[in-house]
Amino acid sequence: MKFYQFDVITDKPEMQFTSSSVRVVVRCRPLNDREKALNCKMVVSVDTSRCQCFIQKPGTTEEPPKQFTFDGTYFISHHTEEMYNEIAYPLVEGVTEGYNGTIFAYGQTGSGKSFTMQGVVDPPSQKGVIPRAFDHVFETIQCAENAKFLVRASYLEIYREEIRDLLGRDTKQKLELKEHPERGIYVRDLSMHTVHSVGECERVMELGWKNRSVGYTLMNKDSSPSERPWT
Ligand code: ADP
Ligand code: MG
Repeated sequence: MKFYQFDVITDKPEMQFTSSSVRVVVRCRPLNDREKALNCKMVVSVDTSRCQCFIQKPGTTEEPPKQFTFDGTYFISHHTEEMYNEIAYPLVEGVTEGYNGTIFAYGQTGSGKSFTMQGVVDPPSQKGVIPRAFDHVFETIQCAENAKFLVRASYLEIYREEIRDLLGRDTKQKLELKEHPERGIYVRDLSMHTVHSVGECERVMELGWKNRSVGYTLMNKDSSPSERPWT
């Protein structure tokens, strides 16, 4: 299972989701081959009309399932396309209008964060949120009249409270978290890369991803899966 947090800082009425600017939705992935081989049973069920998710303790029929309510629920039949259109689309649309927006994927290793955010090429309906946002942003820019856009990308990794710039000259260098009285919280010396097309965004994302997986392989030597960075 995984959670997303959408943080919209705006006082524009149509950008305000429900009563708050933060929306939390849950996506449940199907059992994987390992779980099927172990004869694991699904303990999660979802009522999408009520945005509720239920967890049943295996082997107990009398005990009522634990119930959780979200701003949105996505079950194993849902594809990333649907999630993007309902959840990410309005947020990214707001960003192209100049508002701040954050998509935050949270969940333990193997819960499906990368599957949702990076996605897969086949089937196209499971293309990830990040590459969909690239397409969306540059389509908007192409159609825009009387407006100029500047798109900059940065990519960082936080592992054991340490921050590293995955697009920086030295990806091993630890960076500092700072707070500016007007600009708020920022990472000092984090590199920003101006991008002009979907292709450039994809190249930047691939480069950062590669820089991270080198560290990931090295770290696997002496860490348990629970200690590894969330990827
Ligand atoms: P995480 O990034 O959270 O550690 P992954 O995205 O790598 O997890 O997902 C773990 C495995 O589950 C991958 O093999 C991925 O392909 C699969 N998976 C995750 N979500 C789904 C989904 N919604 N449908 C089908 N397979 C999924
Ligand atoms: Mg991952």
